[in-house]
Amino acid sequence: MSIADRLKDKTLYRTASFIDGAWVTGEGARPVHNPSTNEVIAEIGDVGADGARAAIAAASKAFADWKRVSPFERSKLLMKWHQLILENASDLAMLITLEMGKTFREAQGEVVYGASFIEWSAEEAKRIHGETMHPPFPNSRGWTTHQPVGVVACITPWNFPNAMITRKCAPALAAGCTMVLKPAPETPLSALALAELAKRAGIPDGVFNVICGDAQALGPVMTGAPEVKMIGFTGSTAVGKLLMRQAADGVKRVALELGGNAPFIVMDDADVEAAADGVIASKFRVSGQTCVSANRIIAQSGIADRLIAALEARVSALKPGDGFDASTDLGPLIHHQAVDRVDALVRNARESGARIVTGGKPLVDTLGGSFYAPTLIEGGSPSMDMACFEIFGPVASIYRADSEADILRLANDTPYGLAAYVYTRDVNRVYRITEGLDYGMIGVNAPMVGSASTPFGGMKESGIGREGGKWGVEEFSELKYVLLGNLTA
Ligand code: ADP
Repeated sequence: MSIADRLKDKTLYRTASFIDGAWVTGEGARPVHNPSTNEVIAEIGDVGADGARAAIAAASKAFADWKRVSPFERSKLLMKWHQLILENASDLAMLITLEMGKTFREAQGEVVYGASFIEWSAEEAKRIHGETMHPPFPNSRGWTTHQPVGVVACITPWNFPNAMITRKCAPALAAGCTMVLKPAPETPLSALALAELAKRAGIPDGVFNVICGDAQALGPVMTGAPEVKMIGFTGSTAVGKLLMRQAADGVKRVALELGGNAPFIVMDDADVEAAADGVIASKFRVSGQTCVSANRIIAQSGIADRLIAALEARVSALKPGDGFDASTDLGPLIHHQAVDRVDALVRNARESGARIVTGGKPLVDTLGGSFYAPTLIEGGSPSMDMACFEIFGPVASIYRADSEADILRLANDTPYGLAAYVYTRDVNRVYRITEGLDYGMIGVNAPMVGSASTPFGGMKESGIGREGGKWGVEEFSELKYVLLGNLTA
């Protein structure tokens, strides 16, 4: 059966870029793989630098009208898009599982999560307003307004092929910006299906464009074009730094959501069963391929053995497999290079003296696709590779520490500062530890931090700016101040 035939609505299977409301095929045929089966599920042409320029020109032309559309009307169009996404949720989830590999259950959750940003932003569009103030001059008034930034160029990753897009374009469009989006080459189908639904919702041509092609060719056009006023990016810290450098020439605004190295702290007084459940949710969701996945599980010495036992039972029971199999807990990694990377981290841990409690090997030969065994490691050193770099795989590693001060020092000993977690029942500890952690988001007795109404983003080398909530919309607005002076009293 062809991929389109697996969808209820075949026209959601789009394999061309979307520029100014039209489907543009581009050149060549870059294959998109199902990482669970290695099957080629689509071939996508490259629109090249000229395509990127055409999309930017379309977004720039559309901006002149879109910024004048009443926020109430923008809100209605976004709500229509939201409704269409929910009506087509199972097809969108199927595309996510096919191109990215996560379980269909997780993919369904992602579609709802992704849509929630559109709903939130649609509501927020009507509430973007300024303030009035008293300047220090006689007979004067001041006021502020929020103006859309302009054309925004966004580059997104493959781990949330749907939600990483809506989290950017919904607040951008709500604020009155237009967008050129480059999805990850591994997962273009979700982005293109969203474009199809945007068109059906009546979002005007040129307001939301999706371009597919070589990142090295498209990226510099996106960051260099004078019409582009802002770069939004989710991905690796290395690419984020590169984009920031490229954007510097035009002093463009940047919103960067980069890598993490999340500590998951379990204090002696924690509920060990709840903490173990939390580690599973945080670490093994999407097979560990999220930027907020627990990367270092730091257990206080008094609870470490009990936590390891609780985790061993849970991790060894996790079942890897194809995302469409209802009994699967964990899908594959995105590709074989990812499996090799994770395996190298595990080998390095072993060489550093760590003990593999369960797992610790690729399952490529056993299961076919790019699978890695759910793995639990203990006794590693905080200087081994997997403690310093994002694991991005289903490998949980436990580190022991004694005092609260040692735990905090260890947790902050990284250039990253995205998400952190702490499990404790002592409210004073909650206060001390959350004050001390240099992280943008902290889950206390909670393993997941993202939602449409809350700020998502990191400190240090984990990024700049926040997505979600009112903050997400503010990122796409310029504050303008007007002074009205010398009034007649
Ligand atoms: P990952 O290694 O997880 O794929 P990346 O940061 O390399 O993370 O990729 C995230 C997104 O950035 C993808 O859409 C990718 O195509 C894009 N990307 C990668 N390199 C560049 C580049 N030099 N310029 C612009 N975009 C890039």
